[in-house]
This record gives sequence, C-alpha cells and structure tokens, in this order.
Amino acid sequence: MNNKIKYFQSIHFKIALVLALILLVTLEIVGAVFVSQLETKNVDSYKKQVQLPTYVNTTLINELSKTNISKANVGISSLLSDVDNKNSTEVEVVDAKNTVRGTNESGNQSQVGQKNLKTNIKNTLINRQSYSGIMSDPSNSRYYTVITPLIKSSNNELVGVVYVRANLDSVYREINQITLIYVAAALVAILAGLLISIVISRAITKPIDEMKQQTLQIAKGDYSGQVHVYGRDELGQLANAVNNLSVKVEESQESTESERQRLDSVLTNMTDGVIATDRRGKVIIMNDEAANSLETSESEAIDKSILDVLDIGDEYTLREIIENPDETIIDRSDNSRDLILHAHFSLIQRESGFVSGLVCVLHDVTEQQKIDNDRKQFVSNVSHELRTPLTSVHSYIEALQDGAWKDSTIAPKFLKVTQDETDRMIRMINDLLTLSRMDSNTQKINKELVNIKELFNYILDRFDMIIKSDDDSKKPSKDYKIIRKFTKLDLWVEVDTDRFTQVIDNLMNNAIKYSPDGGTITCSLYETHNNVILSVKDQGLGIPRSSIPHIFDRFYRVDKARSRAQGGTGLGLAISKEVIQALGGRIWVESTENKGSTFYIALPYEPIEEDLWDEN
Ligand code: ADP
Repeated sequence: MNNKIKYFQSIHFKIALVLALILLVTLEIVGAVFVSQLETKNVDSYKKQVQLPTYVNTTLINELSKTNISKANVGISSLLSDVDNKNSTEVEVVDAKNTVRGTNESGNQSQVGQKNLKTNIKNTLINRQSYSGIMSDPSNSRYYTVITPLIKSSNNELVGVVYVRANLDSVYREINQITLIYVAAALVAILAGLLISIVISRAITKPIDEMKQQTLQIAKGDYSGQVHVYGRDELGQLANAVNNLSVKVEESQESTESERQRLDSVLTNMTDGVIATDRRGKVIIMNDEAANSLETSESEAIDKSILDVLDIGDEYTLREIIENPDETIIDRSDNSRDLILHAHFSLIQRESGFVSGLVCVLHDVTEQQKIDNDRKQFVSNVSHELRTPLTSVHSYIEALQDGAWKDSTIAPKFLKVTQDETDRMIRMINDLLTLSRMDSNTQKINKELVNIKELFNYILDRFDMIIKSDDDSKKPSKDYKIIRKFTKLDLWVEVDTDRFTQVIDNLMNNAIKYSPDGGTITCSLYETHNNVILSVKDQGLGIPRSSIPHIFDRFYRVDKARSRAQGGTGLGLAISKEVIQALGGRIWVESTENKGSTFYIALPYEPIEEDLWDEN
C-alpha cells in the first residue's frame, strides 16, 4: 500500500476545492441574476424615457390631417424640434402615403418629402400595429425602436406613423461598467474565499493527519505517541478514541505477547513434538522437539503441508485426517538411527464447529516399540530354546522305549544325552530366572568390600585345579594354560562375591569353550585412577566384527550349533552384563576373528588411604 497521498487526492485539497467551487457557483448565479435584473431595469426605465408624450401624438395626428402639406410639415418640424433629444433620440414622422413628413435629425432634413425606405414603418402602415424592438446596426450600436401608428379617433383613419429610435449604447455601457465592477469584486471574493477555505480545510485535516500518523505508528508497534486533542468536537472525540485505542492495543498486544511467550516456552520445554497447521494443513508452528525428530527446522517446515513434513502423503489425505483425526505410527528409522513416532492428530475447532487447523503431537515410542519387539523376540527365543532339547530328549526316550533300553551299549549313551539335555534345560531355566529377578530388581546384590586380586586368584585357582585333577570324570575335554598378569597392589573393591564369581566363571568357561585345545588364557588385573580393570584373553575363534554389538544380547550366539553342542545356553554373557551393571561397572569385548578375544570388566574403585586403616 502506498501511504503517500498526492495533494490532489487529499481531503485538504477536496475541501478547499469544494468550498471554492460553491463560492464560485454562488457568485456566478448571483452575478447572472444581478446583471440580468440590472439590464432589464435599466432598459425598461430607458424605454419609458424614450416614449413620446401623448400630446405629441395628438398634435401630429392633427398636423397630418391637414391638407396643406407644407404648412403641416412646418408644424411637424417645429413640434419635433421641441422633442427632448438628451437620449440621442431620432424621431421621424411618416404619413399614410409612406412619405417622410418630418425628422428631428438635422442631417436627415433632406429626406422630408421623400418616400420612406424603412421596412418596419411600411409594415406598421399596412398592419396598423405598433412595433417596438432592439436592433443593432453595422457599427454594433444597439438601438431601441418604437413605431406607433397615428390613428384619428373620430373616424379611425390611419394618418401616419411616428418612428422613434433611441441609442442604447450609454445604457449598456453603464451595465457593462457595473458588471465589470461586480466581476472584479467576485474575483477578489473568490480569492479570499479560496484562502479561507484552505485555512479551514487545513484546520480540519491537521488533526486527521496526526491521527493517521499515530495509527501508522500503532500498526508498526510504537504505542508511545499521543494524538493532540484540539477541541471537544467530533474530531476531538475521534482523537481521544485513537489515544484510548492505542492504550488498548498496547495492552492487548502485551497480553498476546506474554501469552505467546508462555506458549512458546511450553512448546519448547515439551518432550513431545508439536506441530500446528492452518485449515489447509500448512504448518504454522513447530516446536524444537518435532523439528529434531523430523530432522528439519521450523523455518524450513513453515508453510509446507503437514503430510509432506511427516512424509505420510502416500497413506493419508488431509481430508481423511480432518474428517477422522486419529493416531498413527510413523517410522522414521534410517541407517543412522532408529526412530518410531506415535502421531496423534486433533482439530482446532471454533465453537461454531469451523475447523481452523490441526494439531499433531509426536511422541517418541522407539524405546517402547523396541522393548515390545524384544519381549516378543524373547518369548519366541525361550520357546525355541526349550523346544530343541525337549524334542531331542523326547526322541531318545522314545528310542529307549522302543527297545533300545535293552542294548547295553546304546542305552547308557542315550541316557547320558537325555541327562545332558535336561541339565542344560535346568541351567537355562535357572539362568532365565536369574535374569528375570535382575530385570525386576528382586535379585539381591550383597556388596562387600573384597580384595579383588585375592578373589580373582581364587577363582582362577579352581580352573587350574580342574586341569590338574586326577579324577578323569572332572578333567575337561581341553587342555589350557592360565597366565596371570596382576598388579602388585591389593585392590579393595565392593562386589557381590557369588555373582562376581559367576561372571568370571562364565568368561573362563567361554574362553575354554571357544578356544582350540592347548590354548593360553591370559588373565590380567590392574587399576586406573578410579577403576579396576580385569581382562580374560584367549587365543580362540574370536568373534566376527558384526557380532560384537550383539554378543551380550540374550540368546545371541555366533554359532548356535557349536554353542549348543558345548552345552551353552546363550544367556551367560547377558547375565554377566546385568551383574556387572548392577555393580556399577562395565563389560566389553575386543576380538579379532581366528586370533582370539579379550573380555574386559571395569569396576568402580576408590583407592583407600593408608592412614584410614591406621585409625581403625
Ligand atoms: P553360550 O552359552 O552360548 O556360551 P554366552 O552368552 O556365554 O552363551 O556367549 C554368547 C556367544 O558369544 C557364544 O555363543 C559365542 O558365540 C560367543 N562367545 C562368547 N565368549 C566367546 C569367546 N571367548 N570366544 C569366541 N566367542 C565367544
């Protein structure tokens, strides 16, 4: 919008113009009436002056009735010379025979006795009607002409006419002079009127101008100005109203602003993503959480369709969402991250039912979905893990029933397998119970301060003992060597001895299980600033790189058949991880396939001040 108003478009100019035009028209009308009245009055009074007195007509009738023409002409001539000629009046007498009988014009005396040539006079002689009219001659002088028939009253005989012609120039000159004076006065009046109207319109438009400026400032958000109130008239009231409006707008602007800030901070601090749209589904608000989840920014999303922003244009139309605002699951997972969003749509509706927009709340349900999937996976794993040994036990028992029990060589083998399988199932169920107790936090962790070097040593001694055992039934199927690389310091750490022993047992058993015969297992123990680090390193199969992130998952095994053959349950490392986490520590693995694996455990450790012991 162009705020600049051209002067010719302004009210200021219009008021001045209208006032000036009214003045002009008024003066024009007054002038026209005045001049025409003046003319009529002047001409009328002049006409009256031109009229010959009645006695002249009577005398002329008498003279023209005389038979002695030359005598009569003398009488006429003397009569006409008496006619007052101050209005430069020409008087001519023509008899019934159209002969000029007398004139008061000295220059025209030769015409006396001649035939009259004036058509008007001839007409009057014929039709006996008197004639009067204004005519102009070639020199533009105007004349008033009166032709009166001279009729004898005794016998109604037309004896002649009298022609009177008076010059009107002096009358018109007078009228023109008066008109000129009037026009000059009118011009002065118009100029004065114009000036006055400019001043008046300025007085009206100045406060309007100020109010315009003030409203423009209000529109720009500057409420500091005040319109000057010039009086108590309508404009004064309007100025007051504008000032009040300014205050009201400022107040409502402030409250809207604070409301907006409150809404902003609510939206910003929400852990759920929020997107609001207009009724066409174009995004108008998006909080940071929503922008982060959708990997976009508010400015990028603004004005885009919500269907595009959520990337659900293929499944839904805006109409469907508005008609049936519901909830949906949006999977935004990609290579770099897992993200599953629960989108809940609702309408922004006025009381009239008019839908003015949509609100979509995005809730991150990735974790929930993951837990759900894990649970399903877990149940399926457990069923599967139990079904395999049960099927094998079932088939062995069936074989025994079918007669194999009678075979003294096969029967013990079959019974051994069924016993091994049942043992494995019992181990698995026990492991599952342990895990379940740890999940529900019902597994008690009895922490006590122990010398971890001693405990580690003690556990490894047991493995040494097994190798050296003379009892063949206890001797392991594989030979191995344990090397200890321990710090010299005694490290006192808070652990649950039984659980910790279970973890080390598990790592040692795995190291033996997944190593070839005759391998070396290196166990080390050292401390860092606030941790003790234990490690168990083997020279075995190692773990493929892709399996490393899953190695601590429940039932995960790199080679299922091999693990099962070794009597593994696939739960050992999962339990170890839970235990170490419950002790506030961390467990991880480094491994190279076909070279070996090293399992590390870090436990929180605070060096005990020597003098602390002294005091006790
Ligand atoms: P399992 O009862 O099968 O041994 P674990 O939870 O103890 O179950 O181990 C899970 C899987 O991790 C094993 O099946 C095996 O594939 C792999 N694994 C564990 N320890 C080692 C190791 N020291 N060397 C190679 N692979 C190992």
